[in-house]
Amino acid sequence: MKFKDKKVLIRVDFNVPLDENFQVTDDTRIRGALPSIKRLLERGSAVIIMSHLGRPMKKLKEDGSIDKERFTLAHVVPRLSQLLGQPVQFAKDTVGPDAQAKVQALKPGEVLLLENTRFEPGEKTGDKELAQKMANLADVYVNDAFGTAHRAHASTATIASFFPKDKKTFGLLMEKEIANANKLLNHPERPVTAIVGGAKVSDKMLLLDKLIDLADNIIIGGGMAYTFIRANGGHTGNSLVEEERLALAIELQEKAHQKGVNIYLPIDSIIADEFKEDAHSLVAQSDDIPDGWMGLDIGPEAATQFSEVIKNSKTILWNGPMGVFEMPAFAGGTHSIAKAVAEATQNGAYSLIGGGDSVAAINQLGLADQVSYVSTGGGAMLKFLEGSPLPGIQAIEEG
Ligand code: AMP
Repeated sequence: MKFKDKKVLIRVDFNVPLDENFQVTDDTRIRGALPSIKRLLERGSAVIIMSHLGRPMKKLKEDGSIDKERFTLAHVVPRLSQLLGQPVQFAKDTVGPDAQAKVQALKPGEVLLLENTRFEPGEKTGDKELAQKMANLADVYVNDAFGTAHRAHASTATIASFFPKDKKTFGLLMEKEIANANKLLNHPERPVTAIVGGAKVSDKMLLLDKLIDLADNIIIGGGMAYTFIRANGGHTGNSLVEEERLALAIELQEKAHQKGVNIYLPIDSIIADEFKEDAHSLVAQSDDIPDGWMGLDIGPEAATQFSEVIKNSKTILWNGPMGVFEMPAFAGGTHSIAKAVAEATQNGAYSLIGGGDSVAAINQLGLADQVSYVSTGGGAMLKFLEGSPLPGIQAIEEG
């Protein structure tokens, strides 16, 4: 693909957290897109960047207008410029007169960031007219926004249909995410262990179903474990249980049994009498939790058992924390699992951390560089692993 002297429009994910003074508090996503941006600059492109930031349409001002002061991508310019080591121009609109004029004047080696794509009402509906206007800005389209690849938005999917196959491509981050997901899905080295946690079974149903076809061991922790434990006849007190998923929990376990897949549930739990950091807490068997108490973390016996399984694995997927890890009193189980994943990786296993909160946990512990790959796209990675088609990927792959 030719990039020299071309205007290249790259869709990235700069949806970064900001503090009350609109300073970027975590620049991981900006850093994630740097390799692609730098490569385009090295190849002599004029680089036009677009992204969304937050949910401006959901958080309108009292008079019903967009809160541009809060959601403008101008907040990202100083950090981006600092990380790139060169000035970054900013357009006050996404496809309007300012964007058009600045794109026209943009020279090879220069960088222009467009205003928040979600200021445009057609962005989230995947509007063709908007996508056409975006496409008109550039010769080549690059999609490096893995985090939004599961959305069929104008800037992530529709736009690609306006570029022929030899004028659109994935960015380096997107390529890396896809390659890592495929490494897990296609002929992984065995034994394969999937660790699934987080709050709800309902969010991870499709993933669990897919994992039964893929994994040798499935470790289930976090809030979702209690739906399984209750389904198996355990007493779970006030733990998080989805009554309407009890039958599904039985079904999944039966399917796993038929396929010879081992399912591990936490034998014991750290239980608390309130959903609070300073609640009273005790260790209890997970199937014998008194009324008024709830399981907020896996217990020490479960952590030891899970860690053993993890350390004996050759391929590991981790999605979701083992407990309410945001509260230090209930973060121990998640931390033990993170350490076991890091240790297994050191001993030659391939490990993919694919999900928002397990990513936060691995970062919290400073272990991100001791696992094989940390995905930047929670929801998108989940969908990819479930086997659902991602519009952002399809749009590039289809002609
Ligand atoms: P998810 O986004 O589905 O991965 O869920 C992550 C959330 O699950 C985190 O905010 C955790 O605090 C929460 N969580 C983990 N374990 C439990 C538990 N035992 N009870 C309630 N919430 C939990």
